[in-house]
Amino acid sequence: TPETDERLDAGPHSRALMQRAHAVTPGGVNSPVRAFNAVGGSPRFIRSAQGPWLTDVDGKRYVDLICSWGPMLLGHAHPEVQAAVQAAVARGTSYGTPTEPEVELAEEIVARTPVEKVRFVSSGTEATMSAIRLARGFTGRDVVVKFAGCYHGHVDALLASAGSGLVTFALPGTPGVPASSTELTLVLPYNDRAAVEAVFAEHGDRIACLVTEAAPGNMGVVPPEPGFNAFLAETCAKHGALFVSDEVMTGFRVTREGQWGLDGKVEGWRPDLVTFGKVMGGGFPAAAFGGRADVMGHLAPEGPVYQAGTLSGNPIATTAGLTTLRLATQEVYDHIGGAADVLKQAASEALSAAGVAHTVQSTGTMFSVFLCDGPVRDFNDASRTDAAAYAAFFHSMLDAGVYLPPSAYEAWFLSSAHDDEAVQTVLDALPAAARAAAA
Ligand code: PLP
Repeated sequence: TPETDERLDAGPHSRALMQRAHAVTPGGVNSPVRAFNAVGGSPRFIRSAQGPWLTDVDGKRYVDLICSWGPMLLGHAHPEVQAAVQAAVARGTSYGTPTEPEVELAEEIVARTPVEKVRFVSSGTEATMSAIRLARGFTGRDVVVKFAGCYHGHVDALLASAGSGLVTFALPGTPGVPASSTELTLVLPYNDRAAVEAVFAEHGDRIACLVTEAAPGNMGVVPPEPGFNAFLAETCAKHGALFVSDEVMTGFRVTREGQWGLDGKVEGWRPDLVTFGKVMGGGFPAAAFGGRADVMGHLAPEGPVYQAGTLSGNPIATTAGLTTLRLATQEVYDHIGGAADVLKQAASEALSAAGVAHTVQSTGTMFSVFLCDGPVRDFNDASRTDAAAYAAFFHSMLDAGVYLPPSAYEAWFLSSAHDDEAVQTVLDALPAAARAAAA
């Protein structure tokens, strides 16, 4: 098994740090997936990063296909982002007052997305939590609908698993979440119009909002079927519920305008509320929720729904985000899309040559490789991915200097800094990794 295979070990400095970390931090990490539990072996502690490269504390270099789980759209240590951040730090780091970069970042987000007004927070979790509170406050209703396999951060009401029947309320997805926190949550299979129609038929007048990843990336990339998001928006509108589109991962990544640039903008509809994070913080803790001006007007201090944050709109984070978004021109997305196409094709060819069942799925520039036959339409399908084969694939890639997400259910993230050398390093590593997955 991976756990006992010495070849999977990190270098001595990473291993020593992991031992110290275990003594003072649960599982040695500050976010579970970093611990490598799903793939075995010991995590690499990263000392520095530049462009598409990570360097660990033992001096080994990796092409980074995690990009901090999405934020680093321009690669690491981008000189213009760094200069802007350094200049901002020199002016002080947090004042607890309004600042100019907040206004500029809000204007940039409003210009690129369907939202009319935006409120900043510090994490995607806070963004979805606050959006749901606002939806409940605005509609005067309590029930929230979500899809299995969509992750919206560790919000109690959204850490929910489907109950036994389709239209039954959810069960807590983890110890520590009381049943009272999920008894107002309904969990449905993704891409399933009949299930959506059934819950709205039965509970429509109690539903405050339906929240969905604009295109799920947290069960691997499972694109909405054509017209699915439009159908959700329409169904919500028909029943007086709000449509909350979670673009924390897809926003400013799959296109300049996020997933909405691929569907809503083309089809002529807007979500009522949208959540953002990751890329808009440029590698700092910044996130946001926004939407219709009349809905956002219900938020304190304009309206009665309370929401606040000591570091919300922090000047360093908003400066990093603003600089990142201003540099994220169409050429950036074209470059990432081109590199993604090369990697998708090469991964598929290598896996085919090794006889490994697989499916590559994408939305815009974001893609993932499932180690199972496709299509993958929902969480049930995604669960068929061969996690053991992925662990072997992952470790072979890591050995060859490519840092993939240490979980079979994640997107592979690229940046505008992924140049020919970085892409070639991945291409060179794929055939042996595919053979490892087959073994
Ligand atoms: N929503 C989506 C779609 C996400 O992918 C994530 C994080 O991965 C979140 C919300 C939560 O964001 P954060 O980790 O910043 O709390």
